Amino acid sequence: MSMRLQNKVAIITGASQGIGQNMAIHFANEGAKLCLISRREEALKEMVLELKLPQGKVLVLPLDVTDQSACDQAARACFAHFGGIDILVNNAGIYRSKPFMDHCTNDFKQLMDVNVYGAVHMVQACFEFLQKSSSARIINMASTAGKWGSKNQSAYNTSKHALVGLTRCLALEFATHAITVNAICPGFVQTAMLEELKSMASHSAGVSEDEFYLAALARIPLGRVMKPQEISSMAVYLASAESSGITGQSIHVDGGMVFS
Ligand code: NDP
Repeated sequence: MSMRLQNKVAIITGASQGIGQNMAIHFANEGAKLCLISRREEALKEMVLELKLPQGKVLVLPLDVTDQSACDQAARACFAHFGGIDILVNNAGIYRSKPFMDHCTNDFKQLMDVNVYGAVHMVQACFEFLQKSSSARIINMASTAGKWGSKNQSAYNTSKHALVGLTRCLALEFATHAITVNAICPGFVQTAMLEELKSMASHSAGVSEDEFYLAALARIPLGRVMKPQEISSMAVYLASAESSGITGQSIHVDGGMVFS
């Protein structure tokens, strides 16, 4: 089987669990060298051991993506370690659910800090290195929440709409540098965040978690939540040479919930 990311160097943020962790496995299986980022160093190290990721091909860099200088240092450290950066996946994210009038400004700031400025920091940190790659890719983990409105999710949806907008703008600006920029818009994915979402969103809506979950499932034409590997498969495709003509897109992996 061909290794679609053979010797490509990929930075994945939010790699300690969930979608980012699953993506790390897929990218490693496709031959990529990995720089894994999240705040919890132990979680990242345990994961590398547990998943038996090839040690020589993995660099663990614990940091908070809201810290711009830490992102700058990480990009330099990754370049110094591997000699290049080809792929940046901005996957780190947080979720909140509250009715709009219960959100304080700080809720909006926190979501924007991680979900949007985290990506801004990483792109700015990596740009000079991505420019040196012959097939550079930026992949932003947005959401269907970046394409439609939802009740009790105004801060989260605002942050994901911003990430979709950023994706489109960067695709245009970076096209002359042969860097493609795309977003993935998952719907509901079976991770810890989904459990958090069920708990918070059902509370905001004043229904039980089961009622909330059944109503959510009823909105998915395929009738089920996505598995992390279904998101990872799209990420591998967007990171690979096969997607060379695709840029500025926000692609849904959501079981058919949203068409736009
Ligand atoms: P999880 O909550 O399972 O994982 C989130 C990851 O982000 C963790 O690895 C966490 O690691 C990291 N992270 C959070 N804040 C920071 C920060 N400030 N700096 C660095 N790393 C951070 O979420 P998922 O895997 O489900 O989600 C991944 C992405 O997919 C998110 O952007 C999310 O919005 C998006 N998404 C998820 C959906 C779902 O249903 N699960 C649906 C649509 C989109 P640590 O704690 O170690 O920092």
